[in-house]
Parts: sequence; structure tokens; C-alpha cells
Amino acid sequence: MKVLLDMIRLREAMTADPTLTLPEGLCYSHANNNGLKNIRELATFRFTCRRCDDAPCISVCPADALEKDEEGVIMRHTNLCVSCKSCVTICPFGTMMTDFFSHHRNKDLFYDLCDRAQAEKFIAACPPGTARFTDGDEQPGEHIYKLNEKVLIRDYIYTTEKE
Ligand code: SF4
Ligand code: SF4
Repeated sequence: MKVLLDMIRLREAMTADPTLTLPEGLCYSHANNNGLKNIRELATFRFTCRRCDDAPCISVCPADALEKDEEGVIMRHTNLCVSCKSCVTICPFGTMMTDFFSHHRNKDLFYDLCDRAQAEKFIAACPPGTARFTDGDEQPGEHIYKLNEKVLIRDYIYTTEKE
């Protein structure tokens, strides 16, 4: 059983209500997670980031908190990040959301998606229609992609591959 998080509908919900506070989903089993980063941040860097060659987000960061991993995916060292949001401002594609960088996160808003009971609470706390359990797998035709063993993401992914 996996959690399917619909990033397309989440953005629509956030646009409709800019005051919306989203629950933070974590999955500690993910190699790039470090136990700190929320699912939306991981999904954004993996699926919608344009992976710029010059990566202005990395060069603008005053804390050396961003780097590319071995796959070229941007990753943020949350222990270095000072939440200045310079990377959000300079990203020419508006990839990142400012709420990724909140220092004073409410721990009650964090749910471990590898834990069934917490995943149920996470889904209940998400805006209606944006998260659910599924037995399915990747369905590129439906814009559904695997983030890790426990989480599927629905989003319009960025790719440089020709159709
Ligand atoms: S918000 Fe964090 S990752 Fe982004 S530029 Fe500032 S210190 Fe670097
Ligand atoms: S500037 Fe934006 S699109 Fe480019 S690598 Fe950084 S986060 Fe990704």
C-alpha cells in the first residue's frame, strides 16, 4: 500500500486558499531524505525542477545548503539552510514553494508516511482529493510516478527526453 500525493491538485488548493497550511509528509526510508525533508520538497526537486546546468539556486545560496546528488537532483541540507529563500526568488521556473523553508515547523504537522496510522492521519489532514492510499504503481499516462517505495506522486514532470 502506498500514499498517492496529487501535487497538481495540491497546487490548485493552495492557489484557491493562499492561507492553507499543508501537513508535512515524511518517509524516513528514502535515501535522500535524511529524515528531515518533506515529501513535497523531494517530489519537486525530483520531478519538476529543470535541473539547470548552472543551477542558480545553488550559487545564490549563502549557506552552501544546496547541491546536486549523483543523479543530478537538487538536495537541500536542512542543517545548513537558513531559510533566506534566495533560492526560491532566483529560480527562473518557480520550482520551489516558500513553505519548504519554514524554520519553525509545527511537529504536529509531520507524519511518517512509512507508518500506516500516521499515513492515514496525513491523508485526512490533506485538502480533500489531494492524497489517498493506492495499491497501484507508476502510470505515466496518468502523470503518476514513483518517488519511493511508499509514495507515488501525481504531477506534470519536467523531462528533456523527446516523445
Ligand atoms: S532558503 Fe536555504 S537553501 Fe535556499 S538559498 Fe536560503 S539558505 Fe540556501
Ligand atoms: S534554479 Fe530552479 S529549476 Fe534550476 S536547478 Fe535550481 S530549483 Fe531547479
